[in-house]
Amino acid sequence: MSDHRKNLFNVGALVRGLTTTFSYMFKKKPTVQYPSVMKQHAPRFHGLHELRRYADGKERCIGCELCAIACQANAITVIGAENSPEDRRSPGERFAARYEIDELRCIFCGLCEEACPTDAIVLTPRFEMADYRRGAFVYAKDRLLVPPEAGVGTPPDERPNGIPADLGGVFRAKDTVDITAGYEATHRGHILKDHTRGGAA
Ligand code: SF4
Ligand code: SF4
Repeated sequence: MSDHRKNLFNVGALVRGLTTTFSYMFKKKPTVQYPSVMKQHAPRFHGLHELRRYADGKERCIGCELCAIACQANAITVIGAENSPEDRRSPGERFAARYEIDELRCIFCGLCEEACPTDAIVLTPRFEMADYRRGAFVYAKDRLLVPPEAGVGTPPDERPNGIPADLGGVFRAKDTVDITAGYEATHRGHILKDHTRGGAA
């Protein structure tokens, strides 16, 4: 190749390279200013759990332990106790006196959510779980249970004609590509939907 053709080739390569560089200068930046701005999740994202309630504040969990049996990572501990007329925590006979999830063991597969007959345990789009101690990743009811005012649905005890087969269908609501449904299916996902902190960039 002559010197003249070599120089032409190098200039052409330079122009092509700079064209690529300049074309990115005018594209929307993919960088998210986290933590000021949270990235929107995929609709079916599986994050940290929450334990739900009914609209009257009763806990949905009936301490049946099906979630613990379904969990392939042995991450869930449930110890049930009997409800009493003076202290009724859930519809039916039992409630979860102790409910814990070791979020470090969890692989966020969602099998607990699918196994639960009352739509009590669900995975939210929440993902922030950094801490300094391993013990801090064992989430108990104080961190899992939603506040009483965040309950949804009528408890089966108060529904006519017994317990219906479908008690809420959160799993189905989340099994969609609709990003809004994915966020609104859970209390903490709903909060996260338009969550921004500090100055948004
Ligand atoms: S998401 Fe999967 S691994 Fe995590 S607690 Fe539920 S069943 Fe277990
Ligand atoms: S969360 Fe659901 S599956 Fe697990 S113990 Fe409670 S009612 Fe049963």
